[in-house]
Amino acid sequence: MQFPIDRVVQYNFPTRIRSGFGARHEIGPYLLAEGQKRPLIVTDAELAKLPIPGDLEKELNGAGLSAKIFAGVQGNPVESQVTAGVAVFRAHNADSIVALGGGAAMDVAKAITLMAHHPGKLFDYEDVPGTKPVDQTIPFFVTVPTTAGTGTEVGRSTVISDDTTHAKKIMFSPRLLARCVFADPELTLGLPARVTAATGMDALTHLVEAYLANDYHPICDGIALEGVRLVAQSLVQCTEYAKAKDPGSDDHRRVRGMMLNAAMMGGIAFQKGLGAVHSTAHPLSTVFDFHHGLANGIMIPYVMRFNAEAVPERFVTLAQAAGIANPGPDSFIHWLENLKEQLGIPRTISEAGAKKEGLEDLVRFAVLDVCHAMNPRPVSEGDFRNIYTKAFGS
Ligand SMILES: [Zn+2]
Repeated sequence: MQFPIDRVVQYNFPTRIRSGFGARHEIGPYLLAEGQKRPLIVTDAELAKLPIPGDLEKELNGAGLSAKIFAGVQGNPVESQVTAGVAVFRAHNADSIVALGGGAAMDVAKAITLMAHHPGKLFDYEDVPGTKPVDQTIPFFVTVPTTAGTGTEVGRSTVISDDTTHAKKIMFSPRLLARCVFADPELTLGLPARVTAATGMDALTHLVEAYLANDYHPICDGIALEGVRLVAQSLVQCTEYAKAKDPGSDDHRRVRGMMLNAAMMGGIAFQKGLGAVHSTAHPLSTVFDFHHGLANGIMIPYVMRFNAEAVPERFVTLAQAAGIANPGPDSFIHWLENLKEQLGIPRTISEAGAKKEGLEDLVRFAVLDVCHAMNPRPVSEGDFRNIYTKAFGS
């Protein structure tokens, strides 16, 4: 898009990020220096089976803080997990929150910070007209990502589902932004190959969709392109090291660091907007319980084939960023297909185990999804049906 000569646009890039191996060891001194004493570590139940949360708790307590773990995050975050977390926050008399984990833990942690001092129910603060403003105190809040994918650690919103209807609700406020992100790639060295691949494809999708989103935002565009370059140089390598169970050779450490940065760049860039890959991926999670990154990974080449004719010149730039010979829409889409294969992402929705009977449900949810509002090519109900039909492999 050209520079708009008829309006003012807004850019937001305020987060402090401490990026590098060992960054997590700075959390204790940082919280103390900021006058915090009783942090609640919010993490998910799966991660709590590993030493990472316990080690952090010990380290914070050793630094003179009184830390406690809440590990009540499971699967897709729902409201009852937030309510349980708020109860633990109050029982511990906590003053701060350390969000430790992937997107789900980050989202629940942000919702707990919101509800720690706001009256009423979480969904009273949904980001829709007529709801309550986020205007009360928010506890001191830092994030520590353990996957390189969602980029939620740098985001300003939280997505929580209703326990019974499964409807996703978005709560948004610039005040939900972390005071500091401790991006320590060491925490990602042990991620299994399957998780590395799926979360990495989520990061790549954020970068690609943000770059293609139909708005003027040269800062996000620059970040997105550099992020694509980092993914192209590190995601396959990270997955190969994960398969080989490499405990942390220098090159493994370097590519994990690149991916963790690429994921944050995706989270930063998509303040510009996302697109139809996310609109087709979200229903795959709702209807078939697909992992979010896996769903994006399956859908991205199909949606890009649909998008290419609208903005072919943008595909040339994307392909250049990915380091592809003969840059253009076709070569970029081939690169995506090849990347999927190298990462072990299923080629089609059917290969991922879903039955085509769900097609009309998927189409219905995709039309309602907000992300495609920014897609570079408008997507009709019929377009969604065509894209899904191709992605089913028939
Ligand atoms: Zn995503």
